[in-house]
Amino acid sequence: MTKIIDESLIQKAKHILAPAEKVAVIAHMGPDGDAVGSSLAMADYLIELGKTVQVMFPDAFPGFLKWMPGADKCLIYTENPEACRSFLNETDVIVMLDFNQLRRMGGLAGCVIGLSAKTILIDHHPNPDQFADVTISYPQIASTSEMVFRYICRTGNFDVMTQNCAMCVYTGMMTDTGAFTFNSNNEEMYYIVSQLIHKGADKDDIYNKVYNTYTANRMRLMGFVLYNRMQLWDCYKTAVMTLSMEDLNQFDHQVGDTEGFVNLPLSIDGIEFSVFIREEPDKIKLSFRSRGAFPANRVASELFNGGGHLNAAGAEFYGKLEDAVKLLEESMSDFII
Ligand code: 5GP
Ligand code: MN
Repeated sequence: MTKIIDESLIQKAKHILAPAEKVAVIAHMGPDGDAVGSSLAMADYLIELGKTVQVMFPDAFPGFLKWMPGADKCLIYTENPEACRSFLNETDVIVMLDFNQLRRMGGLAGCVIGLSAKTILIDHHPNPDQFADVTISYPQIASTSEMVFRYICRTGNFDVMTQNCAMCVYTGMMTDTGAFTFNSNNEEMYYIVSQLIHKGADKDDIYNKVYNTYTANRMRLMGFVLYNRMQLWDCYKTAVMTLSMEDLNQFDHQVGDTEGFVNLPLSIDGIEFSVFIREEPDKIKLSFRSRGAFPANRVASELFNGGGHLNAAGAEFYGKLEDAVKLLEESMSDFII
């Protein structure tokens, strides 16, 4: 395998982790398959090395990831802030995964600032802020989970990797590539997949657990948003879908129910940019997906102070749902290439 990660970064991270007894593993808010997969894989690996490890997320993760090995032992900051804080106060090292700005840690950011613990960031989002002692950032790698796999191999510990660890790595690689349908032309990815299967990851079973466990309400909500809440701005090759709290409540909305909806309009011939806007109690959440060279992350950052990758980005907006749509509509011409 190509040694993509610089050797000095591997050594620095290894050096920080070697003496650590207590390690916290943290990923971004609104955790997705890669955030949860990379965190649980890293935690499993560090536990195998004999460390006491606690995974924590800023807020809840979707039901379709709850089957993952180790998911039941994670702490959710919004549900249990005191337990997160007390572990962090005693932790030697914090491994941060799959985000590039401190504020993506939500409420956990405030707990981490000022601690003496060493920090290691492993991430694949472009242009990371410098907040960690060691920053391992490779935007050309399709998932943070793949980076965790590469990190473990490069420390010479492939043998330490368990079946559970392999399942978690596979889940993150799969979800961040839309089940290997985008960002997925790197041939080494499939060598890694072969090694994960060798370790006992059942890829067909993982696919079914992640993608074929919709509740009836979630399926109906998907039909509703496509039929009643999708606008097509043909001149911009753009689709915009919105869901208000009122809409969501009609379908007994649960965390994660709208995950993946943003990708759906990209199946329409001629649509190159898709925006999904969802109302939450305290903010508006926006998701952006694009095909080809259309810069989803520029729209996210320039209009809404968010960020992400060229073809997958997100942001938050503090205002009315209609105003987010209006801002987007008024500004779309700036992004047409
Ligand atoms: P999603 O649409 O799945 O929430 O996020 C898509 C991508 O954009 C992910 O890589 C995610 O990490 C990033 N992202 C999502 N929301 C935000 C945000 O509010 N700010 C920034 N900087 N990135 C985000
Ligand atoms: Mn990711």
